[in-house]
Amino acid sequence: MNAFWCETAIITGRVRDSVRIEETDGVITAVQIGAEADAADVRLPGLVLPGLANGHSHAFHRALRGRTHADGGTFWTWREQMYRVAAALDPANYFELASAVFAEMLQAGYTAVGEFHYVHRMPDGTPYPDGAELERAIVAAAQSVGLRLTLLDSLYLGGGVGGHGLEPAQRRFSDRSVEGWAQRRDSVHGGPLIRFGAAIHSVRAVPPALFAEVGATSRGMPLHAHVSEQPAENAAALAATGRTPTELFADAGLLGADFTAIHGTHLTTTDVALLGDAGAAVCFTPTTERDLADGIGPARALADAGARLSLGSDQNAVIDPFEEVRGLEMNERLASGERGRFTPAELLAAASANGYRSLGWDGGRFEVGSVCDLVSVDTATPRTAGSAPDQLWLAATSADVTAVVVAGVLRVEGGQYAGGDVGALLRQAIAKVTTTP
Ligand SMILES: [Zn+2]
Repeated sequence: MNAFWCETAIITGRVRDSVRIEETDGVITAVQIGAEADAADVRLPGLVLPGLANGHSHAFHRALRGRTHADGGTFWTWREQMYRVAAALDPANYFELASAVFAEMLQAGYTAVGEFHYVHRMPDGTPYPDGAELERAIVAAAQSVGLRLTLLDSLYLGGGVGGHGLEPAQRRFSDRSVEGWAQRRDSVHGGPLIRFGAAIHSVRAVPPALFAEVGATSRGMPLHAHVSEQPAENAAALAATGRTPTELFADAGLLGADFTAIHGTHLTTTDVALLGDAGAAVCFTPTTERDLADGIGPARALADAGARLSLGSDQNAVIDPFEEVRGLEMNERLASGERGRFTPAELLAAASANGYRSLGWDGGRFEVGSVCDLVSVDTATPRTAGSAPDQLWLAATSADVTAVVVAGVLRVEGGQYAGGDVGALLRQAIAKVTTTP
């Protein structure tokens, strides 16, 4: 059993002083407000938030940061650069890269990640001798860093809506069949910090005729899919099937509480109603959506319709949970001409509890039964000094995180990841999968 004493904490939307949290085996067993600290308690200074969930990541995309801005282009030209990094991955260098990226996430205040993983085979498309070597590398990376992980193993079979074949760069993404994918996916095992989910990469990559089979092999798991990130994806789906991507997922019976639509940028009013009525989640990735010129999705309309909003870093051009939160609200302000589109409580739910639920965990709450993941924010930095305590975290950045607890273990202290210099770890790992221009 460990106990943490928080100077202040935000509990169900209110700032509370002197909060003592006890945990056993990584799960909260007691919460006392206005409590004295015991001598053995781990003291968390500043403002403590529930753990922040990164609902959608592709760890290896981190290698592209600061390398894609020279020649303009579109989502599709960015994708060509991304494919070159994907081609360079092997189990050893991906363990190193994912470890460094997960360490960056932890130090930034993320306590859980949903890794949407679609590079499964060797570059020429043949399986690894032990099957799931890249998946095991990602699981080992999260375990070594101490970041909670849901591995969202993605099915990827084709190169476009309507049965296009795979491009050469896409061969290593494909297991060739739903059965082959499910067998490889289910051969990976984890530990206390690890869970598994399923993913359909997108309507571009999986024929809709197979969606129901995917659902049958994935019952009880989180199921994620990229949905309507780009207008061209919608146009191709409509041309091939007469249905939007969301309608195709609905037709197959996949929309429900376990389903998370990633992006949902270009949705029709019918799509919004389908996702809301199903109680599905929609994960916004604002720093990626603006970087890739995707557009602004209908976040407020989705929440009003009944969808649960969560947040993710996606391509990891930015790893900062506070910046994703601001992006969700600020994009809405720009699109609507109104301020305060989401309450601070709604924003914290998107950054925390909703993300945990989307990844298959009970977390993001200062309550008995929730996983004991905590993030402490410094209240006296140049960014946070003078802010009202209940809104201070909306002014913070990842640089203001001082302490991070995952499953009752202090992993970041004094703003530093316990396992080493994150910048140096990233520099070494990225050098192995990129060529210097
Ligand atoms: Zn993505």
